[in-house]
Amino acid sequence: MRTKCSCFDNAPGVAALGISPSVLDGSRMSHAYPDTQLLIDGQWVDAASGKKIAVHNPATGAVIGHVAHAGIADLDRALAAAQKGFQIWKHTSAHERQAVMRKAALLLQERAADIAAVLTQEQGKPLAEAKGEVLAGVGIIDWFADEALRLYGRIVPARKSDILQQVVKEPVGPVAAFTPWNFPVNQIVRKIGAALATGCSFLCKAPEETPAAPAALLKCFVDAGVPAGVVGLVYGDPHEISSYLIPHPVIRKVTFTGSTAVGKQLAAMAGAHMKRCTMELGGHAPVIIAEDADVELAVKAAGASKLRNAGQVCISPTRFLVHSSLQQAFTDSVVKYFETIKVGNGLEADSKMGPLANPRRVTAMKALVENAQAKGADVLLGGKALGDAGNFYAPTILGNVPLDADVFNNEPFGPVVAMRTFDKLDEAIAEANRLPYGLAAYAFTRSLKTAHQLGQQVETGMLWINQPAIASAEMPFGGVKDSGYGSEGGPEALEAYLIPKAVSIAMV
Ligand code: NAD
Repeated sequence: MRTKCSCFDNAPGVAALGISPSVLDGSRMSHAYPDTQLLIDGQWVDAASGKKIAVHNPATGAVIGHVAHAGIADLDRALAAAQKGFQIWKHTSAHERQAVMRKAALLLQERAADIAAVLTQEQGKPLAEAKGEVLAGVGIIDWFADEALRLYGRIVPARKSDILQQVVKEPVGPVAAFTPWNFPVNQIVRKIGAALATGCSFLCKAPEETPAAPAALLKCFVDAGVPAGVVGLVYGDPHEISSYLIPHPVIRKVTFTGSTAVGKQLAAMAGAHMKRCTMELGGHAPVIIAEDADVELAVKAAGASKLRNAGQVCISPTRFLVHSSLQQAFTDSVVKYFETIKVGNGLEADSKMGPLANPRRVTAMKALVENAQAKGADVLLGGKALGDAGNFYAPTILGNVPLDADVFNNEPFGPVVAMRTFDKLDEAIAEANRLPYGLAAYAFTRSLKTAHQLGQQVETGMLWINQPAIASAEMPFGGVKDSGYGSEGGPEALEAYLIPKAVSIAMV
């Protein structure tokens, strides 16, 4: 375990991102990281008040930069720009929208290495994962860009021959988006992709803890030629900003990714002001390892993906339900795999898991593990914070976890595998469906009959069988129950930004 980094000899090309670099001294290393401004009406600006928020590197705890903190005056300017941008963008042809979006995707691809270095410094994930996130974003933007060409309305046979009935799809209007810190780039791309493809303008409150990668993403759109006001970016006090933007008459649609608790508050506010909304919230994904499962595949697919982004993923596998006949084999194999994982600063080439994104998560991991132990669970690996600086926590495996342990009820959002055994498939399905969440689920079985049964009976928005999560742009992405509503993938993602207008014309 290392919390020092000496490998960052080449400062990332932040100048290429178009944001002025401030070289700040981390505790034991020196590297470039950009200060982040607001994007209002096509201009990168500081807050009118000059207020800023410090940004920390989760691997060292050091302040590495600052982000502008918007106040109401900044929000008013951003809203006016979004309204102006909407009038321009909704009258821009689908082919032009597609071309600009594809150009933005190309710029994102060209800048992927630089953006990944910035993302790792502010969020912590290993550089390879950060680059993977950015490149996945390129594919998602491309897919949404092409969908702009396929937003067909329809002609509906009328009840009288001299009447023409059309269904015309119109963009809903300026969108307010609220995105979290776990995927600073990709939590935005699905939202901006759908918004811009459909002709909406897009005003994003991105995460204050990881602000520079989102700014670099939006800069790709600005540089690609999106007219001023079509995209905007603000940071500040999340509660103040959402409470101002959601009720504001300019905003016609709200989209949020984050915790269920905050999602319920924002959805209630959106409802009170009759705003459309999409909520992508927390989950607690069950992993059913059936009696006939390929254990090595389950370890490779679910065990390994558990540690992606140190487990801070809304679709992360979390409740491992293992058939009792496979318990020993699965446990041995997953422990062996976790022991090979090198935890360290994400900028170091051999780090396979970085720090948690903020100190809150380390506190949460400690509390979950202590609670599980107190309730009788076995700590088979890890179970402790690592190092003397940064937010490092060991890959952790808990066995025999009682159902009433917090970790089996509250989304862990960290590198913790929590396991229980089952004897009958029905028991595993009942446990999978026990919680109010229903975002992602996983299963491993060699039986088509079992796979089909799981497909029908597990209450979830997404189910992956015999594979890790593959969240492709063309498939729906979203949850049920307390995990939210609406989809951020597939054609359904675009429908959420469109109004079907019925136009009936009598020929006179
Ligand atoms: P949190 O609930 O305080 O914040 C989650 C996100 O929502 C952050 O980006 C935050 O800036 C934003 N937010 C908070 N209050 C807001 C408000 N009033 N208006 C607008 N945005 C607001 O929690 P946290 O400590 O940052 O993260 C903890 C939990 O959040 C995790 O355990 C996980 O359940 C959830 N989370 C989920 C996702 C996801 O991808 N679904 C991402 C990040 C966090």
